[in-house]
Formats: sequence, structure tokens, C-alpha cells
Amino acid sequence: MSGIRPTGFLHLGNYFGALRNYVRMQEEYECFFMVADLHSLTTHPDTKELKLNVHRVLSENIASGLDPDKVALYCQSHIHETAELYLYLNMLAYKGELEKTATFKDKVRQQPDNSNAGLLTYPVLQTADIIIHRASLVPVGKDQEQHLEMARNFVNRFNHRYGDVFPEPQAFNYGSELVKVPSLDGSGKMSKSENQNATLFLSDDDELVRKKVMKAKTDSGPLEKNSQKPGYIENIFLLMKLVSSDDTIKKFEEDFNNCTIRYGDMKKQLAEDMVKFITPIRQKAEAIRNDEKYLKFIMEKGAEKANKSAKATMELVRQAIGLNYY
Ligand code: ADP
Repeated sequence: MSGIRPTGFLHLGNYFGALRNYVRMQEEYECFFMVADLHSLTTHPDTKELKLNVHRVLSENIASGLDPDKVALYCQSHIHETAELYLYLNMLAYKGELEKTATFKDKVRQQPDNSNAGLLTYPVLQTADIIIHRASLVPVGKDQEQHLEMARNFVNRFNHRYGDVFPEPQAFNYGSELVKVPSLDGSGKMSKSENQNATLFLSDDDELVRKKVMKAKTDSGPLEKNSQKPGYIENIFLLMKLVSSDDTIKKFEEDFNNCTIRYGDMKKQLAEDMVKFITPIRQKAEAIRNDEKYLKFIMEKGAEKANKSAKATMELVRQAIGLNYY
């Protein structure tokens, strides 16, 4: 189970941190993937563009390879039981631990005039989203590691108090570790809301991709053979590893180690490989986004599957808590 907020176009971080794993998991597991529209209200209270953004995220999920016949692809707000489970979990979440969450502290810094309770309890709602399907594997990027640790704490408290209802959810990735796709300016991660010029979106046209990649921070090259790469150069290699061939990467690694690397050439190659990767997804997503009837059908079908699973879980939860008086 996993989700992505409809707060803008998806980017390479969303793809390689999350979506790529979703697409592989659909062949092996029973999967639930949602557009996290309720979570977006914590930072984007203005809902004028919400519908458009929900349609965008759905389209980009499908264009990236998710098959709505194989998975439940749905909208968070269509599953009302999640709100009930969120309420119960709130009684098991402590103010101190919520205030210490890194993402809460970041968001309060970013929006000091709107440090709302939804932001504080974001990890609680996220836990409810996951365990409403009693899911155990949660494909996410590295930035979500702490939230998953909190989810395990809430689950263990619930199970300890009311009996074993939920499996412990784990952050999941097909690689050896969780992914963090760095931003092109060498600082922080690619993100929908921050640093838009240093983030490659799945919706960027070819020229924009080239422009952004060519602006990535470099320097005049290494002075000593086999030296350590500065962080911003390491990031360019990391991005290359996502989309370029092994031979290409090997060539630039050798050039770096011999001090013959030309970063302009490296960025040109990276830009072309990015264009090759992004273009088909962008074109497919555009076509799907224009088909509102199809998107409505997908959302209804997804909600039906997710509601069935949520209702079954809530029967167990109410029973376990003791909310069964007749
Ligand atoms: P954003 O931070 O762009 O608003 P979300 O919070 O909706 O994105 O995150 C959706 C998914 O994408 C999560 O699983 C998150 O871990 C993953 N993700 C977001 N940015 C990155 C990144 N730069 N690298 C790896 N994974 C990322």
C-alpha cells in the first residue's frame, strides 16, 4: 500500500522512490495505491486545482505502468473508514513524538501561519491509510522512513492494547536501500513543492528537461586522479544511474577518475537519456488526463475494491476495541 499527494505534477523522485516499485509489486502482491488528496489539505487548503491535480496523479500513475485491473487505484477521500481508524489511532499517538517528527518541523518552518493539527497528526493518518488494508509492505522513498517507524509504533501499541489485528508495516524497495533522488542544484531532494527548477517532472517537455539538466551545478573537474566526488557531482552520477546505460556510466566514471571528464558532455548525455525516459510517460499521461470518463471509471472501480478491504478491517478493529454493544 502506498500513496502520492495530488499537489502538482509528479517528478523523478516520485517515480524512482515510489512508482517504479508499485509497478513491479503489482505482479506479485495484492496492491492498494491511492491519491492522497486528504493529506494535501494540510499544506494546500485551497482546493480550486484539486480535481485537476487528482486527475494528473492518476494519469501519471497509469502512464508509469500501473494497471488499474491489477491493483486498487483509488482516491483517499473515497474511503470513509480511514477517518474512523485515524480517530482511534490518535488516542495511541503522543503529542511529544508527533512534535519531534522531522517532516512536521520542516512544514512548520515552511508555513508558520498554518501549523494545523492535520500536519501534526500526518503520520497518524498515514498509518490509518496503510493499515486500513492490513498492509505490510509500503513502497516509499527515503524521506518516509521515519513515518514508517512511527506507523510500526502505533501498530504495536494497538496490537498490545487490543489484540493482534495488524501486521507491522515496513518501508519497501526492490533495491537494497530506500531511494532519495537528489535535486539538480546539489541541495536537498527533488520535490513537487520546493525547488521546481531543480526538479525534473514527468510532465516536462524535452526542451525544459534539457535546460534544467544543463543548469545542474558542476565545477572545472577533478585535479587529482581517482579523487572523491563532491556531493553535487555525485548527484549527477546518481541521476545518470537512473536512466543511462551501464556503458555510458562506465565511460564517465573512467573520465572522472582520469581527470578528463567534460561535465558539459556528461550533462548533454544525461539530458538526452532523461528526455528518452520522460517523453513516453508524458505523452501517455496527457492522453489519459483528457479522458475524464475513463478516470471516473477507474476511481469508482478502485474505491469499490478499497472499500471492501477497509470495511472488513474495521469490523475487526471495532470488535477488538470493544465497540460492539449488541
Ligand atoms: P512530494 O515530497 O514531492 O510532495 P509526496 O510527499 O507526495 O511527494 O511523496 C510521494 C512518494 O514519492 C513518497 O513515497 C516519497 O517517499 C516519494 N518521493 C518524493 N520525493 C522523492 C525523492 N526526491 N526521492 C525519492 N523518493 C521521493
